[in-house]
Amino acid sequence: MSKQEQEDGPSEDRKKYEFRKVIEELQEYEGSGTQLVTIYVPEDKQISSVVAHVTQEHSEASNIKSKQTRTNVQDALKSIKDRLRYYETYPPENGMVLFSGAVDTGGGRSDMITRVLESPPEPVESFRYHCDSEFLTEPLENMLADKGLYGLIVLDRREANVGWLKGKRVVPVKSASSLVPGKQRKGGQSAQRFARLRLEAIDNFYQEVAEMANELFVPKRHEIDGILVGGPSPTKEEFEDGDYLHHELQEEILGLFDVAYTDESGLYDLVDNAEDALADAEIMKDKAEMEEFFENLYDGDLATYGFAQTRQNLNMGSVDRLLISEDLRSDVVTFECPNGHTDYEMVDSSDDTPDHACSECGESAEETDREDAIEHLMTLAEQRGTETKFISTDFEKGEQLYDAFGGVAGILRYSTGV
Ligand SMILES: [Zn+2]
Repeated sequence: MSKQEQEDGPSEDRKKYEFRKVIEELQEYEGSGTQLVTIYVPEDKQISSVVAHVTQEHSEASNIKSKQTRTNVQDALKSIKDRLRYYETYPPENGMVLFSGAVDTGGGRSDMITRVLESPPEPVESFRYHCDSEFLTEPLENMLADKGLYGLIVLDRREANVGWLKGKRVVPVKSASSLVPGKQRKGGQSAQRFARLRLEAIDNFYQEVAEMANELFVPKRHEIDGILVGGPSPTKEEFEDGDYLHHELQEEILGLFDVAYTDESGLYDLVDNAEDALADAEIMKDKAEMEEFFENLYDGDLATYGFAQTRQNLNMGSVDRLLISEDLRSDVVTFECPNGHTDYEMVDSSDDTPDHACSECGESAEETDREDAIEHLMTLAEQRGTETKFISTDFEKGEQLYDAFGGVAGILRYSTGV
């Protein structure tokens, strides 16, 4: 783990989780008409020009035929304008996203809601005004999708392109083309000499492509999650078999994939065709965490699981990595008994608070607080220097974390006997 990650890690994770929760909330909402407004603002967009845009939309909304929709859109825009007053010249780092509108609450009634998400995990790329019966959350969802960094290479014997896959974004970087002669030799050349020259030219081109890829990928080799190579056969196979790439990159090759073109568009095809391999790679880290957890559960003493046990270990500072199921949607209720003891219980978010008897004295205890379970656990983890890992349920052991261990487990730094 790099120093950078240690410093930014926990708060980044928390921020992502908080964003995810707001997005899930926003996805639930629907407007009875085209009346839910979403505005994406990049960090270099002046607030005054956003206000001008909103004012313009407000006046254009007067043309909306349905009185109800018209009023709702104008109310949403007014609410957004009010929020924009809190900002000076520019939005915060990475920009912000504003959501406002009258959402259906059933029975023909609606409720006005406004949410502002500041400084998303990736920069907002362009200004976007969107008015629909749903909020536009997709660009934000893409930012939250598990980030990965993959090197992309597409090549045939004449052309090559290299670039990055960053999260879900393909970034073409460099290209090269070769002077490899075609298969047809010119009259007068000996067949043998022609074949030799052609092979040499191919070899030179592969070397050139490898140099181009090395220049780009070697400095990032410790951050790269894998390398994808695309092209027609047998070019991509020759390129891999020939060990042209830097040896550390060579080991990172996730697979070879057929693509029809080797220009920039080939990089996009490559990512499409490697979809399964990428999904596996993404889950690989989660799998490794769960393997380590199970090994410790069966053969060691560095595993803890279940809310109460894991919380106790967290509190003692003995948890190295906190493993939380991505599907966990629970609350932690704090109880206090008349004798001054404090207990914590995890309950399903949609459930009412159950009766609780104090674990120390057995007296009936009162609820004094209720908060989101993940936030509760992450706060403890941050205070104790514990890393939090969110584990997908898209594989067997990930499902087990959710089903059999209550969605909460940990790998310990040292055994505590708890
Ligand atoms: Zn008590």
